[in-house]
Amino acid sequence: MSRYPKKPTPPEGMPEQLVADLNQLNAEDLRKTIIHAQELLNFHDETPSPVEPNSGDDILKVTERDGYTEVVKQVFCGEDCGDCPHGPYLYHVEQEPHPDGTETSYWRFIGEVQLDDE
Ligand SMILES: [Zn+2]
Repeated sequence: MSRYPKKPTPPEGMPEQLVADLNQLNAEDLRKTIIHAQELLNFHDETPSPVEPNSGDDILKVTERDGYTEVVKQVFCGEDCGDCPHGPYLYHVEQEPHPDGTETSYWRFIGEVQLDDE
């Protein structure tokens, strides 16, 4: 038996060429590869909609615009209310990025809208 630990087995389905290339790398290059892979992962992992609805609200339509997201939603006020749901209302949602990588959503109420039946 070798006193060296067994070489790790790459995940199933990983391209052979990539495995071969990674095996050539020294520790420093491997660390760089991990960092780059993480960046790529973040890049690909774009959430389809940054909008987080309030629980109970009914998002009817989300349209990505330049600099903001247009959201049409119905609002349930949650009380004993015969008129629920209210709306649909149009909001413009802007994302304000923070240095730590998180974002805050700003919901700007635009007004009541009529949705075309499609
Ligand atoms: Zn209501």
